[in-house]
Amino acid sequence: MKAVTFQGKEAMETKKVDDPQIHEKDDMIVRITASGICGSDLHLYNGGIVPEKDYVVGHEPMVSWRMSVPM
Ligand SMILES: [Zn+2]
Repeated sequence: MKAVTFQGKEAMETKKVDDPQIHEKDDMIVRITASGICGSDLHLYNGGIVPEKDYVVGHEPMVSWRMSVPM
């Protein structure tokens, strides 16, 4: 899958990353259809917070999903 990744101050790059995996019985994989940008992302972009290189940015997703287990 593709993700926006942190490469350094003012350097973001869309890269291919590993597909997510199910590890626990209550894990869920969702398809992100869009993502917003918030102040936390701007702190990364401006160098106020420095995560490791290739950190996947974005935590304001809009998703589509289907139940795979009957309720
Ligand atoms: Zn946020």
